[in-house]
Amino acid sequence: MIRSSAWRRARGWRLGAAALVLAVIALRLSVPTGGQSTAGSTDARVRYTVSVPEPAHRWMAVELEVDGLGADPLSLRMSSASPGRYARHDFAKNIFMVEARTAAGEPLEAIRTTPTRWDIADHDGSVVFYYRIFGDRVDGTYLAVDPTHAHLNMPASLVWPAGLETGPIEVRFVPPAGEPWRVATQLFPTDDQLRFIAPNVGYLLDSPAEFSAFVDRTFEVTDPSDSTYRPDFRVAVHHGGSDADVDRYAADVERIVREMVAVFGEFPRFETGRYTFIADYLPTAAGDAMEHRNSTVISAPASLRTQGRALLGSVSHEFFHVWNVERIRPQSLEPFDFENVNASGELWLAEGYTNYYGTLTLQRAGLASLPATLGRFSRAIETVRLGPGRRFRSAVEMSRLAPFTDAASAIDPTNWDNLFISYYTWGETLGLGLDLLLRVRSADAAGVPSLTLDDYMRLLWRQFGLPGGSTPGAVDRPYTMADARAALEELTDASFADEYFDRYVEGREVIDYVPLLERAGVAVVPTALDQAWLGDPSLRFERGGARVTRPMPFGSPLHLAGLDRDDVIVSIDGREVSSAGRWSETRDRLLPGRSVTLTFARAGELLTARVTPEEHPGLRLVAFEEIGRTLTSSHMRFREAWLGSQLD
Ligand SMILES: [Zn+2]
Repeated sequence: MIRSSAWRRARGWRLGAAALVLAVIALRLSVPTGGQSTAGSTDARVRYTVSVPEPAHRWMAVELEVDGLGADPLSLRMSSASPGRYARHDFAKNIFMVEARTAAGEPLEAIRTTPTRWDIADHDGSVVFYYRIFGDRVDGTYLAVDPTHAHLNMPASLVWPAGLETGPIEVRFVPPAGEPWRVATQLFPTDDQLRFIAPNVGYLLDSPAEFSAFVDRTFEVTDPSDSTYRPDFRVAVHHGGSDADVDRYAADVERIVREMVAVFGEFPRFETGRYTFIADYLPTAAGDAMEHRNSTVISAPASLRTQGRALLGSVSHEFFHVWNVERIRPQSLEPFDFENVNASGELWLAEGYTNYYGTLTLQRAGLASLPATLGRFSRAIETVRLGPGRRFRSAVEMSRLAPFTDAASAIDPTNWDNLFISYYTWGETLGLGLDLLLRVRSADAAGVPSLTLDDYMRLLWRQFGLPGGSTPGAVDRPYTMADARAALEELTDASFADEYFDRYVEGREVIDYVPLLERAGVAVVPTALDQAWLGDPSLRFERGGARVTRPMPFGSPLHLAGLDRDDVIVSIDGREVSSAGRWSETRDRLLPGRSVTLTFARAGELLTARVTPEEHPGLRLVAFEEIGRTLTSSHMRFREAWLGSQLD
């Protein structure tokens, strides 16, 4: 996924080999029907062999052979960032037992000049670099090795040769003795099913691999705008369930693919003619999902049999990334910096709109119920509307915090509860809001709109996604914030686009969803009528009272009363609160607007304060018919055009 212009400009001494592979790729891609293209044989001068001789011990061996080198030292790098993940990760920490030699076997010295870099001088034009790497986390970001599989995220697994980024690379997988493991990956296949080609280092690092005895299914979907283009879709599942579970899951994945392509009207040209879903549903897996150019990795500590439909949200989100982020790509992620991190102000669109379409597509495909969909939208709107972080930063500024918040780790406490609102969530509400604003302003008397967010996405696709890239994995025309605004202006007018961007995207206002949702026969109602509200603190109940365990939400009654983390609330209005039951009993006796005395312990001292409960601020979305309101035919048509299937 690297689209590094610096890398594209890098010395092209092996352009001959690259051109050969690209010619083969181009030739195969010109075959209009389905079926996967293969890269055939190459004379790649960068070759990896990955093997797992002792999977029980959670390490993998990597042998990297490079030849045809000039006189300069070879500099090998380990990534600190991974495509689709926005925080810094020190993947080099797990490397051990490093050795280097020439192809003829003469020992070489590999000097670790920085924590993530090995330099090798005095070679004879060839270097064989061997290392072992520990990995024990099954997700979309790291490496996991165990007796059931090797699950590779490439930046967490492979060092790469600086200066040789543009040439083809071969990767060969060696299974543990006697294991019938196969490989699911977006790497270009060859006629040997354990040997693959990457056209460049960026594509290699963007190509995760599941190496195991997984179960797979494939299906073809004809491109809606070109009946001769039928990419195939592979669903590779590593799990402990039955094949019937995989059949059901693959059928649901197919419904998502068919429904989602209707938004754009066409598939991108997948470079290998195939898109691969790699799913690991294992007790040992962490919940994660990561988009890549022609594949995704999805993991969860879950079971397809019991949680099948609940696992489709991440499938739907990741598949939308095929267009939005993988091809409609913000300039701020270009070039992707594997050795540092990119900060992007556009993640509210790249991730947030993707979240919105993830939810919307499940509803449109009949894979989620209306109450479930409205529940998701409710939670997103409430998170943004009530989130203290909105006092401080816009959705654009929240996006730029991703390097600190996207699975980043730190040992000092943070106050994200108050200072951060996820750009996934905020962006989801911005997508929902823009969709409804466009629909309402363009709807005819019958409730049918002539302009929707789908039109906006299609326009972005035509302007920025469709032009493609000069090499596999590259995006030659990424967009800027100004481009996104100009595209909306093109679709509507300057005042509409400026209002949306100035007030809601770069500003901190919340769209008024109430009149917009009314058009779809959806009402906004209080979650807890007449209930007094203190601010939903995080509490741990202990013998002396209720201990506040997280930073107190800014502006909430308890925050205004001066309480914060580690204070122990002993009593409110004379009633003790040392259990969840007593806490809610006490709260239910309070009246909004009537101040009461609160006793709390802080660092061994007993203190008192006055607190004034407020009306519970929570709201939720509910369909008219659920609360006895009349649904007119205009409501129904508006709702059907929005939430109904877009397939003919
Ligand atoms: Zn995403």
